[in-house]
Amino acid sequence: MDALIVGGGIMGLLTARELRRLGMQVTLLERDRPGRQASWASAGILAETLRHSPNAVDALREYGQRLFPTLVAELREETGLDVDYVENGTLIPALDDTQAAELERETRTLQALGSPCEFVTGAALREAEPALGPRVVAARLAPGGNVENRRLVRALELANLRNGVQIENGVQVIGLLRQGDAVVGVRTQAGDRFAPLVVLAAGSWSGQIAGADPPIPVVPQRGQILALWPGAHGPRRVVLTPGDPYLVPRRDGRLIVGATRELVGYDASLTAGGLAWLLSSAIELVPGLAEAPVIEQWVGFRPLSADGVPLIGPAALRGLYYITGHGPTGIAPAPASVKLLVALIEGVPPPLPVAPYDPLRFRAAAGTTD
Ligand SMILES: Cc1cc2nc3c(=O)[nH]c(=O)nc-3n(C[C@H](O)[C@H](O)[C@H](O)COP(=O)(O)OP(=O)(O)OC[C@H]3O[C@@H](n4cnc5c(N)ncnc54)[C@H](O)[C@@H]3O)c2cc1C
Repeated sequence: MDALIVGGGIMGLLTARELRRLGMQVTLLERDRPGRQASWASAGILAETLRHSPNAVDALREYGQRLFPTLVAELREETGLDVDYVENGTLIPALDDTQAAELERETRTLQALGSPCEFVTGAALREAEPALGPRVVAARLAPGGNVENRRLVRALELANLRNGVQIENGVQVIGLLRQGDAVVGVRTQAGDRFAPLVVLAAGSWSGQIAGADPPIPVVPQRGQILALWPGAHGPRRVVLTPGDPYLVPRRDGRLIVGATRELVGYDASLTAGGLAWLLSSAIELVPGLAEAPVIEQWVGFRPLSADGVPLIGPAALRGLYYITGHGPTGIAPAPASVKLLVALIEGVPPPLPVAPYDPLRFRAAAGTTD
């Protein structure tokens, strides 16, 4: 093997696909089945964030979103699967006059920066989104959309299998194997695996792999999320409210309502308070949803890094790389994160400045400075 990938979420699956395309022999080790954790639980929103701030997370997300149409087309070619990518736009609502004034100011700033967004009120707002209730007094309309992330990870798994990536399901990685200052493989519950390149992509569990230097400061953030069948009562666009929840109309007619953000470890409970908040907030925005059947509810764990910025790039051991810690925004930036990682592995100029994502920024904090 040339490369071992630890974890079969969107990060591990996309990394495996890219490395295989470079001609490497790649094995992906997944302790369960690929694409069943955060990447499955996600709402799959690919849209502008609420506030425009040219920070490192936004830069990755914006570049990742630009790569999506090509990725979707390639996956359809490789697997025959359609991942329900849809560009149906984003709506950011204002719920009172103060919010409306702020949103209008922000929209003017975005327009001046070249963003194709518009501020709407009154008849224009009702015409754009007839389902919105009277609480919504104004909104910004912007480009954006969503992808059916469950189909996306399935398509990536299939593409990898067809392209010759070995996927070992049910294999939990416990620690790293090293020789001097280099990684030489991983220890798993099913025996040792050897390769000169190891990529840790274990989502919110990334910090549990023994021997990783620097230690990975990632914790799980629980998200409770559900799906409704809105019929004619749903919004046409992705609706993003400041402080959540959001509404995501899928191409197949479902409406995703997400999500809580809770630091409760790996407790996978759906709570009365969490679900009540999601449903009452959704109905406040779109009153017709009160009649909508609830068709599914689930929980996922976002891999939240200590400073909110992903860890992408080489670690302290030669041959060891991280791609983790994407938190609440990990589907949209994924193609960009992986391009960045693979450029660093190949030693070619990366498409974005890499410093903000450097895993070694946590090394000094952990007290290991050599
Ligand atoms: C409710 C919710 C809504 C979200 N909505 C959005 C959204 O709208 N837009 C967006 O861009 N992002 C969203 N996100 C965030 C996004 O889903 C995540 O950031 C992203 O999926 C993380 O991918 P990952 O591959 O790092 O982790 P995961 O998908 O969790 O994958 C990690 C994998 O590693 C495996 N693994 C763990 N430990 C080991 C081990 N020791 N050995 C072997 N395998 C191991 C796990 O089983 C898992 O399959 C949301 C997340 C949640 C939970």
